[in-house]
Parts: sequence; C-alpha cells; structure tokens
Amino acid sequence: MTAEIIDGKAAAQRLRERVALHAAAFEQAAGRKAGLAVVLVGEDPASAVYVRSKGKATLAAGMASFEHRLPADTPQAELLTLVDALNADAAVDGILVQLPLPRHIDESAVLLRISPDKDVDGFHPVNAGRLATGLPGFVPCTPLGCLLLMEERLGSVAGKDAVVIGRSNIVGKPMAALLTRASATVTIAHSRTQDLAAHVARADIVVAAVGIPQFVKGEWIKPGATVIDVGINRTDAGLVGDVDFAGAASVAGAITPVPGGVGPMTIACLLRNTLVAAHRAAGVPLDE
Ligand code: NDP
Repeated sequence: MTAEIIDGKAAAQRLRERVALHAAAFEQAAGRKAGLAVVLVGEDPASAVYVRSKGKATLAAGMASFEHRLPADTPQAELLTLVDALNADAAVDGILVQLPLPRHIDESAVLLRISPDKDVDGFHPVNAGRLATGLPGFVPCTPLGCLLLMEERLGSVAGKDAVVIGRSNIVGKPMAALLTRASATVTIAHSRTQDLAAHVARADIVVAAVGIPQFVKGEWIKPGATVIDVGINRTDAGLVGDVDFAGAASVAGAITPVPGGVGPMTIACLLRNTLVAAHRAAGVPLDE
C-alpha cells in the first residue's frame, strides 16, 4: 500500500483564501482591518523567518500586521510594557510573542500578560482551560491545523483510536484535548510510555510531536492509519519530520510530508484565530 500524501500547502492555501474573504467582509462591517501584532525579541534566525512569514501572510489575507522587533538584551519589564500597550490597542486583535525568548526573560510571565482575548496562539492558561472545559477560546495553531487536516481526510474523527506522541503545552496536550472534544479515543504517549510501538499499532490516527528525527517507525503503523507528522528537525539531510516517512508511507492510508504538511497549516490557523478575535472584539458575528 502507498499512502495518500496529505497536501498541507494546498489545504492551508484554501483556508487562507477563506480567511481573506471573511477579513474583507469584516473590514466592511467594522470599518477597520483585523490586526495581528507579532513581537520578536533577539536575532534567532529561525524565529526571524517565522515572524517574517507570519507578517507577509497577515498582509496577504487583507489584515493589518504590526511587527515589533526588540534587541536580545531587552529587559523583561520593557517587553511586559509593550504587551500591556498591545493589550490596550484597539487596532490589535491578536498578539503573538515569538518563542523561544532570550534566557533572561520568564516566558510564562510574558504569556500570562497577554490578554486571553488577544491570545491567538492559545498559550494562555485561561485558553488552555477553556479548551479543556469546552468553552470558546483560542486553540493553539499547530494542533488546530492537524485536526483540520485529519478531518479533511477522515470527515469526522469521532470513535477513532488516536495516539498523540508528545505532551507539550503547545502541541501534544492541546492536540489530545481537541481530539477528545471531537470524540476520538485518545492515548497520550511521552518519554515514559512503555511499549510505544504497541500503542501506535492500535491507532487509526497517529500524531507525532516528539522532536526526534524519524522517531516513529513504519513497522509500528497500523495499515491504513492516518499519520500526522508535526516534527520539524533540521538535519544534514535537510528538514525531516518525527516519522520515518518512507517506511510509514508504505503502510499508512495517508500521511503528512515534512515540509509541506502541518507547517503551512500553522500560519493559516493563526490568521483564522486572528479573524475570530477581531469579530469577537468588534461584536461582529462570524458566519463560517
Ligand atoms: P517538546 O520538546 O516540548 O515535547 C516533546 C515531547 O516528546 C515531550 O512530551 C516528550 O516527553 C516526548 N518525547 C521525547 N522523547 C520521547 C520518546 N523517546 N518517546 C516518546 N515520547 C518522547 O516539543 P514540542 O511539542 O514543542 O515540538 C515537537 C515537535 O514539533 C518538534 O520537532 C518541533 O520542532 C515541532 N513543531 C512544529 C510546529 C509546526 O508548525 N509544524 C510547531 C511546534 C512544534 P516528556 O514530556 O516525557 O519529556
């Protein structure tokens, strides 16, 4: 069997086009553009690339982009003051502080300072709590993108056995919460999990968010399963995921490639979250 390759780039493009249509309608209704502020502290090259592509995508969707670049030695208090100003700025619907932050800054203090209503990354504990309890809030962009890719292939994930490998606050845990909300039967695996291969072998859906190149082996995968590879690992051989792609693609029913799978969906979901934030802030209903 050869797996269908899930085209995340194409799915992201479709989502971005839908967001652009809604963003234009929002501007008509609210008399202003939806706006996303992105804050970059320091010169990390990968972060700089992410921030640039987020800014470009925001503008391409017909939304306003506010970029704030601060030097690496910016004191934490100064960053918090900027976050306060963005919280108070009516032109800013979404705030994203690019991670990782320099070592002298307490990441969780910064994330806590962002108003939960502008937290389009969905990292604020209030939004994590809303997701866990089924209240409307913001869902982290990467797992949201993963769910949309799964639903595009499977329709509903209800009743499916899903194994999420990884339990980070930004990918694994919210992924498991989203799948639970969508009525999948969810197993969360991590570095202390015993016999991971046996868990994966039962799964109709496998999400790999581990951070180890080609960690998930093809022979673990149940024939026909849907495999979502979140990993982005820079190796001498280029970008590779957390799944042994060649091995898994010969068994799975469908699989996301790296690059071109989950990555493009992450930015598209960020735009979608910003659009939702703008509608909520302006009291304009979003007709999806
Ligand atoms: P973290 O390092 O925060 O989490 C990794 C998780 O993998 C942890 O829960 C860890 O378990 C688990 N793990 C580590 N080793 C093993 C093992 N041997 N067996 C089972 N589980 C293990 O990573 P992130 O969640 O932030 O990111 C995961 C991957 O996704 C990375 O490659 C990252 O680059 C990528 N990523 C991609 C994005 C995109 O847009 N496509 C966005 C964000 C991340 P434990 O908790 O026990 O330590």
